[in-house]
Amino acid sequence: MSAIDTLPPLRQVIAEYGLSARKSMGQNFLLDLNLTAKIARAAGDLTEFDVLEVGPGPGGLTRGLLAEGARRVLAVEKDARCLPALAQIADHYPGRLKVINDDALDIDMAEHLNAPIKVVANLPYNVGTELLTRWLDVPQWPPQWTSLTLMFQREVAERLVAQPGSKAYGRLSILTAWRTDARIVMDLPPEAFTPPPKVRSSVVHLKALDAPRFPANPKVLTDLVARAFNQRRKMMRASLKGLTNDLEDKLAAAGIKPTDRAEVVTLEQFCALARLLV
Ligand code: SAM
Repeated sequence: MSAIDTLPPLRQVIAEYGLSARKSMGQNFLLDLNLTAKIARAAGDLTEFDVLEVGPGPGGLTRGLLAEGARRVLAVEKDARCLPALAQIADHYPGRLKVINDDALDIDMAEHLNAPIKVVANLPYNVGTELLTRWLDVPQWPPQWTSLTLMFQREVAERLVAQPGSKAYGRLSILTAWRTDARIVMDLPPEAFTPPPKVRSSVVHLKALDAPRFPANPKVLTDLVARAFNQRRKMMRASLKGLTNDLEDKLAAAGIKPTDRAEVVTLEQFCALARLLV
C-alpha cells in the first residue's frame, strides 16, 4: 500500500499529541489512511466541491479528503486536543483546510463553504442521527449540500435504506427516501477503528434529489410520520385518531387500509395522505 501523503502515520500523530480516545466524545478513530481515502472516494469526485467534515479527530479522513482532491475542507471538531494535529494537516495543504473548534450542531455550513458542497464524515455516534435529521429536514429543497457520505452504526444505516414491511423501516427511512437516493456503500468491522466500537459500522451515501420524490408539505409529512410510527404496531386508524375529520376516507383516498400498521405504509401513500391533511 502506498502512502497517501508525506505526513506522519496516524499512530505517531496520536502519540505525539496525546489523543487518547474519549468515549464521551464518541471517539473511534480510523488509522488506516488507505481506508480513509476509500471512504473519501465513496463520496465521488471531490475536486469541484467544498467539503464539510464533522469530527476530524486526528485527521485520518481529513487527509483522505484532501489527498482525493477536495477543493476545500471545513473540519468541525469539538475536542480542542485535536487542533495541533489538524493544524499540521492545514500546513501541508495550504489554503485548503479550515478547522473550527466547535460543536457541529451549532455550525451553518453555508456560512463557511461555497456551493457545491459535499458532507463526508465518520460521525460521532451520539450526534449522528441528530445531524442527519437536521440536514434532511430543512424547509427548502434542494438543500445546501449535494451529497452526504456518512459513517453510522450498521443498525442505523439499515434504518436509512429500509423498505416498507421490514423491521428497520421507520421515520428515518421515510425522510431519507423522500428526498435522497441512499445506498450503503461500505461495511466496516469493529477492528477497523481504534478503539473498536461494540458494533459494526457502515458508510451510507445519500445523494440529494432535485425535488422530493412525491409532493408533500415537509412539516405535515414529518408530523404525520412521527405520529404514525410513535406506536408502530398500532393500526393507522388508531395511531392517527383525532388528527383530522373523515380520517378513514382520507386513508382510503391515499390507498391506506385503516387496519394497516405504519410499517407497511409506503412513502407514496404517506405523501398522498399528507397532501389530504393540508
Ligand atoms: N474522523 C475521525 C476518524 O475517522 O478517525 C474521528 C471520528 S470519531 C468517530 C468522531 C469525532 O467527532 C471525534 O473526533 C470527536 O471528538 C468529534 N465530535 C464528537 N462530538 C462532536 C460534535 N458535537 N461536533 C463536532 N465534533 C464532534
